[in-house]
Amino acid sequence: MLSNARHTAGHADVVVVGAGLAGLAAAHRLTSAGLSVSVLEAAPRVGGRMTTDLVDGFRLDRSGQLLNSSFPELRRLTEPGGLTLLPFAPEVLLRGGERDHRCGEPRSARGNRRARSTRGALTAARALASATRTPLVGALDQARLSGHLHRLADLPTDQLLARPELTAAHALSARGLPNRALHGLLRPLLVALLCDPRLTTSSRCADLALRSFARGRLCLPAGGASALPELLAAALPPGTVRTGVRAVSAATTSVATAEHGELRCRAVLVATGARTAAELLPGLRLPVFHPVTVLHHTADATPLAEPVLVLDADRRGPVSHTAVISEVDPTRSPPGRVLITSTVLGPAACEPFDALDKAARGQLGELYGTSAEDWELLRVHHDPDAVPAMPAPHDPQRPVRLLSGLFVCGDHRDTSTAQGALSSGRRAAQSVLHDFGLGPRDETGPLSAAA
Ligand SMILES: Cc1cc2nc3c(=O)[nH]c(=O)nc-3n(C[C@H](O)[C@H](O)[C@H](O)COP(=O)(O)OP(=O)(O)OC[C@H]3O[C@@H](n4cnc5c(N)ncnc54)[C@H](O)[C@@H]3O)c2cc1C
Repeated sequence: MLSNARHTAGHADVVVVGAGLAGLAAAHRLTSAGLSVSVLEAAPRVGGRMTTDLVDGFRLDRSGQLLNSSFPELRRLTEPGGLTLLPFAPEVLLRGGERDHRCGEPRSARGNRRARSTRGALTAARALASATRTPLVGALDQARLSGHLHRLADLPTDQLLARPELTAAHALSARGLPNRALHGLLRPLLVALLCDPRLTTSSRCADLALRSFARGRLCLPAGGASALPELLAAALPPGTVRTGVRAVSAATTSVATAEHGELRCRAVLVATGARTAAELLPGLRLPVFHPVTVLHHTADATPLAEPVLVLDADRRGPVSHTAVISEVDPTRSPPGRVLITSTVLGPAACEPFDALDKAARGQLGELYGTSAEDWELLRVHHDPDAVPAMPAPHDPQRPVRLLSGLFVCGDHRDTSTAQGALSSGRRAAQSVLHDFGLGPRDETGPLSAAA
């Protein structure tokens, strides 16, 4: 029974600080259970790291999001009338020197890609086995790689998490895979999936990421990354989210804001990124972060008429991965223009924008087999705290209840992905409901995170 479901400007059952994926997912669960919730968001709009900027008719994501259709939390949101996920081609294209490797389904087997559901697509693991061109790795090596991904795709979570936990780099080299396949193929793929160029990530988290890749399809939300948080926000009761309100301190029964006074409540859920969470909640560990810079270029004509993710097998420049995003989602660019989005990781992501753009153009020219010198740079977005690092040992279900009345969620409590953020929000909400006598402590399995 709800003891007090008042929702006024100064009071709510639960105050959630932060309207990123985690905070919105938590608010969704809490309001569905009948609680009054106030979500305070410092920025002028919801979404946090999943924000899309509108620039001259282009829809530019601040993050170069690679979502996966097998993320369980995303699957829940893609029911009819919900989120539309547009898949990349089932293959990724690895470019090394003059050679290519298509890690995926051959063109002839693709059929009508846009008409097909992402769920029904060949998994990348199966697709790998059917790749036809193998200049980067030989047929035998390819078969071994394919077998590796197949086994991972089938591995239950408890068995995956029971594997020894090393760095991803160590675990990869201990798996007996051929060198060229390892360094030219699996490594660049994992680097892109984890935003971690040195692969210091926990091997278990790396396996979760590879397993998602093997089970599903890389995809983008139609219309931009912000479509996902906007969908969640729109489903909340009117007035739940208050943008432009910055929390400056949080206690068990109140939140103080910079310019809007104090809000009283029965519980507080801090759903900011890890750095602000550590400021609001002294004692919370601050993770190391992987910095990421995203470059958005436009050109008159497409350099690659395929919705494929391109990886650099030879790491010959700052770009880790790149794609003609308007081939995946034509609504991202105005008619007659093409949007190419490229992601830079590691120390290179901290280089001055001018130098980075110059170096990236040379590399992009080689990757796409055309000059990139005439491309127009639309926007560069650098985030030093883009992705919380997940070194071993990493607990992908960190506690979300700190004290009676004080909770925390965000990707830094799970895995550093959209899936992890959504999952942490659900876990935290469940924990609040349990404390309020409204539900079991946790309704999820041993690990709801798939990546
Ligand atoms: C460049 C980049 C690339 C990425 N690539 C991928 C990828 O390929 N695949 C993938 O799955 N994930 C990727 N991610 C990670 C993914 O975007 C995040 O895991 C997810 O969006 C985190 O959501 P969150 O709700 O935990 O945090 P956030 O999105 O950071 O939300 C926190 C919110 O809290 C608000 N806030 C902060 N301080 C306050 C305050 N004092 N008061 C009120 N509000 C406050 C912020 O404005 C923000 O809206 C990437 C992220 C970046 C930046």
